[in-house]
Amino acid sequence: MSKDKQEMFTSTCCYCGVGCGVQIKIENKGVISVRGDQDHPVNRGMLCSKGLNLQYTVNDKSDRLLYPQMRYNKNMPLQRTSWDLALDRTVAVFKTFIEKYGPDSVAFYASGQCLTEEYYVINKLMKGFIGSNNIDTNSRLCMSSAVTAYKMTLGEDSVPICYDDIELADCFLVTGANPAWCHPILWRRIEAHKSANPQAKIIVVDPRVTDSCSLADLHLQINPGTDVVLNYAIGRVLIETNQIDRDFIHDHTEGFEAYKQRVFEKSVYEAAIICGVEEDSIRLAAEYIGGAKGFLSMWTMGLNQSAIGVNKNLSLINLNLITGKIGKPGCGPFSLTGQPNAMGGREVGGLANLLPAHRDLSNDTHRKEVQKFWGGTTISGKTGLTATEMFEALHNGQLKAIWILCTNPMTSLPNARFAEEALKKAKFVIVQEITNKAQTLPYADVILPAAAWAEKEGTMTNSERRVSHLHKILDPPGEALPDAEIICRFAKKMGYKGFDYTNPADIYKEHTKLTAKTNISVDGLDYELIDSCKTVQWPFQKRKGIGTVRLFTDHLFHTKSQKANIHSPVDVLTSELPDSQFPFILTTGRIRDHWHTMSKTGKVSKLKQHIKEAFLEINLADADRLHIKDDQIVCVQSRRGKVQVKARVTDSIKPGVVFLPMHWGKELGSDLHRTNNLTSSFLDPLSKEPDFKYCAVHIAPFSKP
Ligand code: SF4
Repeated sequence: MSKDKQEMFTSTCCYCGVGCGVQIKIENKGVISVRGDQDHPVNRGMLCSKGLNLQYTVNDKSDRLLYPQMRYNKNMPLQRTSWDLALDRTVAVFKTFIEKYGPDSVAFYASGQCLTEEYYVINKLMKGFIGSNNIDTNSRLCMSSAVTAYKMTLGEDSVPICYDDIELADCFLVTGANPAWCHPILWRRIEAHKSANPQAKIIVVDPRVTDSCSLADLHLQINPGTDVVLNYAIGRVLIETNQIDRDFIHDHTEGFEAYKQRVFEKSVYEAAIICGVEEDSIRLAAEYIGGAKGFLSMWTMGLNQSAIGVNKNLSLINLNLITGKIGKPGCGPFSLTGQPNAMGGREVGGLANLLPAHRDLSNDTHRKEVQKFWGGTTISGKTGLTATEMFEALHNGQLKAIWILCTNPMTSLPNARFAEEALKKAKFVIVQEITNKAQTLPYADVILPAAAWAEKEGTMTNSERRVSHLHKILDPPGEALPDAEIICRFAKKMGYKGFDYTNPADIYKEHTKLTAKTNISVDGLDYELIDSCKTVQWPFQKRKGIGTVRLFTDHLFHTKSQKANIHSPVDVLTSELPDSQFPFILTTGRIRDHWHTMSKTGKVSKLKQHIKEAFLEINLADADRLHIKDDQIVCVQSRRGKVQVKARVTDSIKPGVVFLPMHWGKELGSDLHRTNNLTSSFLDPLSKEPDFKYCAVHIAPFSKP
């Protein structure tokens, strides 16, 4: 454990993908205090409101699950049981289903908040021993469009930049993101950079006026879903004004001619009309990008969570490729990771279509390599069920058992009432959780109490590929166990070999060996080495004993031709469009002080002060027409369900568009604040990421029946 003379322990904030370093002090038995780590390269001592209040989520143990619970049939109440009985029953049920219906009758649904070691053992258990690829995580709801687009363009799911590029950039295109609220510490670095370098340009693209706009030189308040049209129009202007890097395009990319044809299909004027912005603003954005030495494009859910999420990503990454602004200081396409360890999960192949170390499930050689290393069963080449597909499969009876850990699908999945019905229909549900408030618990047949942040050891990787080591500082309460230990105990009871690790360090070592000779190698790295370097960015250069700050500096991409692919998909939106019955576009998102479904931030009274309740943001003109006043309760209805919340009447959102925060779920038995009652089941066809940012709704003042 890394600690100084004052008994300060180092760790990493468990909220967002920024990955800020923290120092933790044990004040009393089981009580800690947290402060920013001054020496950490990410945050240099700073923490946002969520990070500053981390200790309260740990110190308050009043909602913790303390012992395993189980019931023998759905009509019985859950009762306290032992770990052995809970796991024995789960083993018996899994074996029965696997024997009767095959390995694809069971599934694991995990989380981007799991540690890398936890992801590793779940993935190994499911793909390497049970023999199914039905292991997916809530990262599917968050990053999968960016992952697909990186692979298609750069040949690898690799964020090429480092955070220090912020201080080296002179143009930022922040699109589909509100980092001032959702990635606050990165935003503070941008603020400081802009303050010291006022000539640096910040372009924000968002249908709403957000806090991030306050720093912007240019805000393109586009119509939702028009990102591809906008990015193509910017690309067209860059070509027309000769602000592209022709040598880079010729030497290091493929597909430019098709791209040129595509972007010239619409005039900038036509694009401006579709996007709902001024033509001059598009030209100004191109001028800022073309004139920059360092150009960072930054995006997150506004691009990813879409029925055309991959196309949105591709059209943005193209702007870095045609200007040659990649693999150089201050340059690159930078997807802002939502969750703290979504990146680490992908390193170990923790999605239904991946294998460890970015190997491909569809590649025979890759499957054989992993199978030989693990020494288990034949790895199937069939892509497993992705997040929303799992719940459809529960609905139609194809999937019999689901093991849900560290995530709350009842609030976070789109079309949440459908997901809830699916869990009711499931034959067997295991919930591995820390809190007794989890909305999945009423549907569980087995409940397994898990250790929380600071109660277990492992690693996480942040948005800039930076691996950090999280120390165990406290014992978990009651009989709660670390997630990796629970999975390994289960695997051993299933009779599988290769799960008798003595500690998380053993799991990490095994993972590092499996990455050897790959583009994301961490071979040679261990906890001691990470601690001695504080953090390490992959790939780890074993011979030099250092990480890699920036990728593709040689401009050799990880495609077969070593050239980056410029893709030119059509710019057509395939979302559920508004009509006369449901005339408004609903977009959803996060607020400053809450995290996901509030299972942690909802415990902290300070974090509830900023915004106390769910709300609907609606434009002044729309509210006026519908006779809706500020603070009045409104009924929001889609084809799938309804929500009742107070209206926030504002001119910061476009007419015809409304916004709901995604955090609130079922409270006191009512789901009328649950935004995902409304969202659609539309998915991006390639990434399978849901369309959280666009569906059609009807708005009316609430009237008592
Ligand atoms: Fe934690 Fe993210 Fe805030 Fe940093 S920016 S303190 S990682 S929530």
